[in-house]
Amino acid sequence: MAHIKLHIPGPVEVSAKTFQAFCQPMVGHRGQGFKDLVAKIQPQLQTLLGTKQLAYLSTSSAWGVMEGSLRNLTQKKVLNCMKGAFSDKWLDVAKRCGKDAEALQVPWGSPIRAEQIDAKLATGQFDSLTLIHNETSTGTMSPLAEIAALKKKYPDVMFIVDAVSSMTALPIHFDALGIDVLLAGTQKAFALPPGLTVFTASPAALARAATAKDRGYYFDFVEFQKNAADHMTPSTPSISHVYALASKLDDFFAEGLENRYARHAKTNQMTRDWAARHGFTLFPETGYESITLTCVNNGAKPGGRTVDAAKLQKLVKEQGFLIDGGYGKIKGTTFRLSNMGDETPETMGQLFAALDHAMAQL
Ligand SMILES: *Cc1c(COP(=O)(O)O)cnc(C)c1O
Repeated sequence: MAHIKLHIPGPVEVSAKTFQAFCQPMVGHRGQGFKDLVAKIQPQLQTLLGTKQLAYLSTSSAWGVMEGSLRNLTQKKVLNCMKGAFSDKWLDVAKRCGKDAEALQVPWGSPIRAEQIDAKLATGQFDSLTLIHNETSTGTMSPLAEIAALKKKYPDVMFIVDAVSSMTALPIHFDALGIDVLLAGTQKAFALPPGLTVFTASPAALARAATAKDRGYYFDFVEFQKNAADHMTPSTPSISHVYALASKLDDFFAEGLENRYARHAKTNQMTRDWAARHGFTLFPETGYESITLTCVNNGAKPGGRTVDAAKLQKLVKEQGFLIDGGYGKIKGTTFRLSNMGDETPETMGQLFAALDHAMAQL
């Protein structure tokens, strides 16, 4: 069957070059060849994340490290900043880990604001918080710099930040922000196959983790640090992913990070323009729209045009493109178009042509 090109917000389309890198022969993960590979990509990852800390490679999807962060860092109580399906679930995950947890819930489509977090942290109850920078279910981006500035006021609160669908698409400087954990699964903005998570942790986070009795083994930050210092991982990693990541990082730096960020801004603006051209409004609050995906309002909020999202999705699929018909409680009343990864103005133009053709049949 012909491949349907992915324009859903994850997993996203993986290039032939990346797949070729993925398919290289295995090496031993304690051998010099593997260590040399990790040693090569470590400084690239540090540049990408804006950090002098070591970057870690976890063979898991993002949820592994999202859960692991709580097990390493939450001893008192965690504040879960919630604004969509993924961020809302983090509260549930905290409870399943037996952690004392509290919700800071805003309506889906709204960002989390620093003053809302400040009011909660001022109670002194919390030793950690979870934040999703770019909430993929609603296409809403929270103001990370404004939120991270609170760290100065609350140095003992561990700021755990998920940048799954934003890391690599815009600059996120870990050290300058002063946050404690930054993580991303690779099947979204990195455009790698699913199964690997890249993350880093602050010295304060590593110190906190070292005192956590029930942090387990697989996601033990202390183990990640110790092994990363030797260019290794705690357990056998998906070596294929590390090959693919090395290839991808070379792509990032060949393009230039600034060019990569500009490309995402451009392809995202094109997507917003497509929506406006067809009379749609966007689901996120104005000024907080994601730059890696566009969550089109299709009746979830008043204003703008509505169409049969399932039918639109079907008509576009017949032309070889998969778009997303909305997630969770806004399925159908929104739909999402991704410009993550390798997409260019040219490839996005192909998607818009298919969408235009479908719209003409609705
Ligand atoms: C996709 C996604 C996740 C979950 O990733 P998994 O790969 O399913 O673990 C978490 N956070 C955000 C923002 C996401 O987009």
